[in-house]
Amino acid sequence: MLLNPALLVLALLPFSLAQVSEGFENGWDQTAWPTYAVDCNQGGKVSLDSSTAHSGKNSIRVDGAGGYCGHIFVGTTKVPSGDVYVRTYLKASKALTDAHVSFITMPDSAQGTKKHLRIGGQSKILMYNRESDDATLPDLSPQGIAASAALPTGTWQCFEYHLGTDGTIETWLNGNAIAGLTVKAGVTNVNAAQWQRSSIKPKITSIYFGWESYGGDANTFWYDDIVVSSSRVGCSS
Ligand code: CA
Repeated sequence: MLLNPALLVLALLPFSLAQVSEGFENGWDQTAWPTYAVDCNQGGKVSLDSSTAHSGKNSIRVDGAGGYCGHIFVGTTKVPSGDVYVRTYLKASKALTDAHVSFITMPDSAQGTKKHLRIGGQSKILMYNRESDDATLPDLSPQGIAASAALPTGTWQCFEYHLGTDGTIETWLNGNAIAGLTVKAGVTNVNAAQWQRSSIKPKITSIYFGWESYGGDANTFWYDDIVVSSSRVGCSS
């Protein structure tokens, strides 16, 4: 039987648009999803968990220990070359504290070797951190803190972000844009002064999900239904 080439292209299209789409129902493929811990790893652990999931029965569990070397991440090097959209469902066991932590880390060639664009928490809210100059988004002023959001615990949250080639950053929690975590042309973010003191436009080479703390905070995170794409996929109903 001859295949109609046009139909074949249409059939393949949904898959070619999403570079990565993973719900871990076939297990944890450690080749596609390697662990990542720069310089040291003492105490952090990644495992496949069949006791909680956003979809199906499996998710990836990260037991993060305290201190920098307690860090451990798991992720992918399949990153689109242009706009990058990431959607993950995540569940945190403990609330973000005043201490600086990261739960997503991305090697960023725009910052230099072994420097990362990080997403995590400080001052009890979600924030970005640029490793090379330690800038935060938002500014951690009372106004900046109020412009971000806390990360609820114990339930699956839909977390999305967009990194544009022009330096754009957009962030959504359960489909709602977080004003303090937005940097884009045409939108004024008065709480992005520290972030915008540099003209670095992030160019990430991989995306890792896990836990890293720079003080004593430990936490357990679960991740499921991760999509890395060149367009926004949104939250599933
Ligand atoms: Ca799953």
